Amino acid sequence: MSTIVCIIDGMTDTAFRPEDYPTLSSFSYQGAMQPTPAGYGAESLTCILTILGVKKIPRLLRGYADALGAGIPVEVGDLVTRVSWMALDETGRCTLPINASSLAHTPNGCTYYALGGYKGLLVLEGQGSCAEHITAMPPYQCAGNFPAALRPTGCEPLSAFFDQNLTTSHCAVPWGQAAAANLPPFVQKAAVICGTQIVRGIASLLHMDCPVIPGATGDTDTDLRAKTEAALQAAETYPFVLLHFNGSDEASHRKDAAEKRAFIHRVDDLVLPHLYNCPHRVYVLSDHATDPQTGCHVGTPQPVFMKEANDSCGRKESSFFSAFGL
Ligand SMILES: [Zn+2]
Repeated sequence: MSTIVCIIDGMTDTAFRPEDYPTLSSFSYQGAMQPTPAGYGAESLTCILTILGVKKIPRLLRGYADALGAGIPVEVGDLVTRVSWMALDETGRCTLPINASSLAHTPNGCTYYALGGYKGLLVLEGQGSCAEHITAMPPYQCAGNFPAALRPTGCEPLSAFFDQNLTTSHCAVPWGQAAAANLPPFVQKAAVICGTQIVRGIASLLHMDCPVIPGATGDTDTDLRAKTEAALQAAETYPFVLLHFNGSDEASHRKDAAEKRAFIHRVDDLVLPHLYNCPHRVYVLSDHATDPQTGCHVGTPQPVFMKEANDSCGRKESSFFSAFGL
């Protein structure tokens, strides 16, 4: 008997009602848990680590987890930042994000990686101790500012990277500084079935196996059947399986409430019936709310749905969520 935890990222919002989803509402409602720790932002990395029972989450971890998820080599002691490329208008003010350049000028000891779309990553050898002294502006605060206000401080090579990539039409803004860190491995042998980079990074951080699933993406176009089959297959040999769907979060960020609902309905039709009928214990929940009106994450407590294992021995094991009082 295995435990499968199915996370439907950003599933809830103020309009979310479980009774709109027939299979989900046939699971038993267990109460609500709070995946967003006090003092942290509502963000998948922190929330999913909390769901997985990690108590001490380093504050500056995101860029490192992204790097691990993308298979980028980072040593303990290195600094990692996200890089967002932003357009500048004719007055020199920052406007909108643009696709990440495939190449960048880099100071010595820095390596730049384009991750596809608007995402870039910078690894700065041996600069990890700077992480907590850096001031940097996240891309969602950049619009309307002149480049001088976007220039990071607190790490010389990082400021140099900004200067070297500033032109009259665009700039490369480092942010999301993180230091490489070691987390304790997950308590059980575990498999992660996902299509999104940050969740692959979580798998790597916690030493969980994360097979590549053909057709799995981190969006609404993911292959739901392939991921469901992979999760059920993994549950044959792993005592714990994390199954993650990201389309509901991405549709919410696009402020498309109809696309979000349609995606959750597809999960309800194509995924949850197989989980409901499998012999394993299954939990279904979201890591945080994502509001399709604002496109933002919300760190509210999340409803937890469960179905018991069909264990012929009638054996009861302690609940995975007992740590959260559920
Ligand atoms: Zn999100």
